[in-house]
Parts: sequence; C-alpha cells; structure tokens
Amino acid sequence: MTGLSRRTALRLAALWLAAHQIGGVSLAAVDVRSDPFTLGVASGDPQPDGFVLWTRLIGLEAVGAAVRWEVASDERFTRIVRRGTSVASPALGHSVHVEVTGLLPDRAYFYRFRVGGAASGVGRVRTAPHPDARLASARFAVACCQQWEHGWFNAYRDLVAQDPRLVLFLGDYIYERRSGAAPFVREFGAPQPTDLASYRARHALYKSDADLQAAHAACAWAVTWDDHEVSNDYAGATPSDPESDAIFRARRAGAYQAYFEHMPIRPSALMTQGETRLYRTLGLGQLADLHVLDGRQYRDALACPGAPIRGGRALSDCAELNADRTFLGRAQENWIASAYGARAVAWDVIANPALFDPVDLALEDRPTHWSDFWDGYPVAQARMQSVFADKPDARALILTGDLHSWWAFETPPAADAPRTATEFVFGSLASRPPRASLFGDDIQRRNPHLRHMNLEGTGYGLVDLSLTDAVIQLRIMDATNPKISTAVTRTKFTVDRVTASVST
Ligand code: FE
Ligand code: CA
Repeated sequence: MTGLSRRTALRLAALWLAAHQIGGVSLAAVDVRSDPFTLGVASGDPQPDGFVLWTRLIGLEAVGAAVRWEVASDERFTRIVRRGTSVASPALGHSVHVEVTGLLPDRAYFYRFRVGGAASGVGRVRTAPHPDARLASARFAVACCQQWEHGWFNAYRDLVAQDPRLVLFLGDYIYERRSGAAPFVREFGAPQPTDLASYRARHALYKSDADLQAAHAACAWAVTWDDHEVSNDYAGATPSDPESDAIFRARRAGAYQAYFEHMPIRPSALMTQGETRLYRTLGLGQLADLHVLDGRQYRDALACPGAPIRGGRALSDCAELNADRTFLGRAQENWIASAYGARAVAWDVIANPALFDPVDLALEDRPTHWSDFWDGYPVAQARMQSVFADKPDARALILTGDLHSWWAFETPPAADAPRTATEFVFGSLASRPPRASLFGDDIQRRNPHLRHMNLEGTGYGLVDLSLTDAVIQLRIMDATNPKISTAVTRTKFTVDRVTASVST
C-alpha cells in the first residue's frame, strides 16, 4: 500500500462502499477497522478455461461489500487478464466465490482481491489441461483429517515445497469437538458447534492457521468432506449422537452452509433444501479424470447401530448388511456409473472419503467388518466393484482418507478376479492415529489384497501420475517435536496401469 496508511485506506474503502449498491445487497457504510482478508485466499476445481476463486471478508456486520478481483499471468500483476466485482453478502457470511472463465489451459495464474484500499494476499493456481491434451505427467497431493487440537499443520510446508498442481482433500477438514486426552497442542476454545454461526466460527479458526492458508494460496484444491465437518459418524440424515432428528437437521444444514462459505467450490454447489452438491469430475487432459465422491450426505443409516451412540462399530453378525442399502445415494451411484471410464484416460482417480476395500478386521474367529466404511454397505460396495469391472479398459486409483493410518490394496480381493483398481489410504494431516486394538494381529494374513499397513505417523500423500504408472509417496513427519518436524518419504509405491499391481 503506497502513500496512505492502511487504516486510512480502509476508511476510504468504507466510503466507497457507502456509495454503491450491487445485486440487491445493501452496501451501506461499512466501518472496516481492520484487515478484512485475515482468512486468506483459495482457488479450486480447475477447468481448462478457469477455476473458482475464494475469500471471505471478516469484520463486516450486517451489510454486504463489493469485492474486486484480479487474475494476472504474472505474480506482480503487470499483465491482468481478467477482473471483476463480486458481492460478499452477509447471508453467505461475506464469502466470495468467483467462477473465472476465458483463460488458457494448463497455465499458471495469480489472483488477489481488493475492498477499497485493502488488498488480499496473492494466490497461485493452474488451469487444467485441455481435455485432449497428451499430458505426460501430473503431480498432486492428497490430505485429510486435521484435528486442530491434536497437531500442528506444518506438513503443509513440505506439501507446498513439493509444488503439486492440485491438493485433493478427502474430508475431516474441521473437527467438531475434542477427542482423546491431554496434552493438546492448542484448543478449540469453544464447544461443539450447533448452528451456522458456530460452524462458521470453527471454520474461521481453521482458516487462521498460517500453514493451511499458505497451502490454499499455493495451488488449487478439490475438496470433499467426511463426517467431522458435521459430527462424528453421522450417516445421511441420521446422527450418531443421541439427539433428535430435528436438532440434527438444523446442525447439518448450518454445517453444510459454513463448509460452502469457507471452501473454493462452485456457487452452483449450494443447492436448495440444505443439500450441497460435492460429487463431480475434474479432468487432467488424457491423463486422468478425478471423480470426487461424497460418502456422507446421501448414505443410509449405519447397519445394526449401538445405543445410545449410533456410530461406527465392528460387526460380525448383522442381517441388515444384506439389505439393499446405499452409500452414495442413488443419484450419485448413477452418476459415477456413467462418469467412471467415460473418457479414454489413463487413470480414473476416485477421491473417496472412507475405506472402499472389504477388510476383515480379524477381531473374531468370524469375519468382522467396520460399519462406517463401505464394508457397512456391502451391496453398494459390490455395485461399485461392478462399475469398475464393467469398464475393463479403465483403471481406478482410489484415494481414501478417514483411517488416520496408511494402507494399500489391490482390488477386488478375490485372487481369481481380474484386478480393476488399487486403493491407497492416506494418514491424517494432524489427527492422532487409531488404537492398534481396532485391528486384529491377523489382519494382513486374513486380507491378502492388503499390501501395506502402517498405523503410525501423520503427514500427507504425493501422487505422480504418468500414462504407464502412478507413483505414490507417503510423506510422513520425521521427528518427535511436531513443531519443527518435516515430512519425508517413508514408503513409495509404484502402480502399474496395465496390471493394477502395487510394488514398493
Ligand atoms: Fe478423521
Ligand atoms: Ca472421518
């Protein structure tokens, strides 16, 4: 900022706003006393001709604001290629979601926002390649599960240094409440959110993290959610906590809107009736289609629940598992059945919030399965296996979160069935790993399709796709002092596209 003090500039911004009214939102005198861009900036869902830009203004009360945005082909904004104005309205928490179009494919761009004299930080984003582009390789990162109280988010520093073109986020972006015992590295400072205002506050707390902000500014993200964006182990309209369906409906609607307000997703994702549409496909030329799944919003209630807590549990004897229940909801099932293998790409990447492969947990003499995974919906799981099997020329690379631990599978499990897919489960960015007692000692022998299992360490994944193979690196934090630790490649897998086999 030149000449003016920041404070004076913000006062001028307020006066400017007072003179304008856009889109029916009242832009009355705004007394902006402090930087409105403290939650950072983000981009998402790159297309060949554009992307979504996001920010959310802080410090405005009941009035809207006109936010100017600029996209440049250089970091110093000497070549501005697109600009416009967007309204940050109080009804959507003063969030801004801009769908930028008209850009060139597979190019780096820079963006920033302004309100009067206040300017946001600068973000960087790359458009997707043209659908017909013979892209030889692409690197993206995979992250999930960031429990604020359990750990620092410094794995993102290494993620940014690895220069991925995209971050796939697989869910548990926020956590709704404390879990486990002290010590905690920091505190939520608030109880479990119950409504839009309190979920907004939780998201704003998360967006105050400098490492998370830097990772959003570094490249586009493609996000989906799991359970903790609302509450632990909920399933569709059914809470796992003992609360009424009406209270849960209000909680879920507030949580979904707050999620939309804080994520770089398309404005069209926000539907009526409290739905937010997250399932979608993003293309990477002829190299890959990325299919992003929503495993929470539309699923049937968990089978054979306990009481009063109706969350995930190990099941060995539950007739309900044989019923025709859905994990994705019928509309999303139909969508993935046609989207999967629809284009002649090398890889159909599936961003999948909860474990897809069948796993006998080996907790009893009889097979035991976890009810909150796809295993709790075996009829839907088999339908999804058929989607893969029906397109033998396609190759599924399933990327999974939720388990706070690191796993690799070749699928389907039956030794005599043609292999269609591999699945990698990525550990948490910050959440504590699971108790080893959740899994029996015999689990690897009972599940020969399970090629790798590591219950320790936090971090993220790096995926390098080529036309012939996929290289997956498990970037796991290296030191016991989490504040200064960095991520290193603990395990590196290569997946052969033709055989769908995993080697280390
Ligand atoms: Fe989690
Ligand atoms: Ca989860």
